[in-house]
Amino acid sequence: MNKFSIGVDLGGTNLRIAAVDENGALVEKVTLGTGVSRGRDYVIADMCDAIRRMVEKYNHRAPLLGIGIGVPGIIDIQTGLVRESPNLPDWVDYPARAAIEERLKTVVILENDANVAALGEKWLGAAKDYADVAMLTLGTGVGGGLVQGGAIWRGANGMAGEFGHTTVEPDGHPCGCGNRGCLEQYASATAVVRMAREAIANGGASALARAASSDPEFSAKSIYNLAIQGDEDARRIFRYVGRCLGIVLSTMVNSLNLPIYVIGGGASSAWEAFSPAMFEELRRRSLVYAATAPQDPSATHEGASAHVKAGPGHKTIITRALLGSDAGLYGAARLPMIAEAKS
Ligand SMILES: [Zn+2]
Repeated sequence: MNKFSIGVDLGGTNLRIAAVDENGALVEKVTLGTGVSRGRDYVIADMCDAIRRMVEKYNHRAPLLGIGIGVPGIIDIQTGLVRESPNLPDWVDYPARAAIEERLKTVVILENDANVAALGEKWLGAAKDYADVAMLTLGTGVGGGLVQGGAIWRGANGMAGEFGHTTVEPDGHPCGCGNRGCLEQYASATAVVRMAREAIANGGASALARAASSDPEFSAKSIYNLAIQGDEDARRIFRYVGRCLGIVLSTMVNSLNLPIYVIGGGASSAWEAFSPAMFEELRRRSLVYAATAPQDPSATHEGASAHVKAGPGHKTIITRALLGSDAGLYGAARLPMIAEAKS
């Protein structure tokens, strides 16, 4: 067995832990409930027990490189403090890294969950042929991550890449971050459901209204299904999702000029419904994109770059993530490997 590390994806609902070897092969993966309602001490203790069990299973066969943990929310990298986490409500200014290291008696690396997803896609996914990548994750919220030269670009405090909280509507819907009109309020799964309920309240959205009243789990997925079946009200919602994504991506492309931007997270499976409007907006708003968009003869819209490999001349690729929900797990496992390579 090769050297390995442990990657942890600490979500609001699921706690996932994997042993991954230095070549990116998955050794073992377990999924547990996070148990957020039982409080942070319980979550930490339960997670540390599960990490210890997995380490003890393999560390007599190969050296352990370290433990990386992806956590949703704002994390101060220097202090290991979780400043705020929407999915872990009692983790405000909580010294999570110290609490975990004390239990495990070893060094761990904490990182924002969208940053580790970006690192995972860079290591083994859609961006593996590139040194630099930006990622947006569309889930309950909208996360963002930046990788430069194969490592996470953290900024001064480890808070860089919060693309989900950039403004697309100056006086728009209030966001949990304190701002109004954040991308997250228009391109997350939560936002899709809210916009559908607004359309129903405004009257006329009859198919959406029927779905909302008959489906107890009325979700972004149900709205996507209606959009794909051609329902105009559902299609309009996803066009707006695409438009808002295009606005933020055009700013990212203009300011960063990266070779590739990856869109992942559960709600990215609605790609077919939102991406035409996204590419249209990009071409309209970004001179850098217009100058570097790949031509894809199979795409219905010029410049749509879903399945195009970058050719000479540094094309700007905007594409779907490949690793699904495992991106964060692989990225977290990758953290100690990069730390070791640097030291
Ligand atoms: Zn916000």
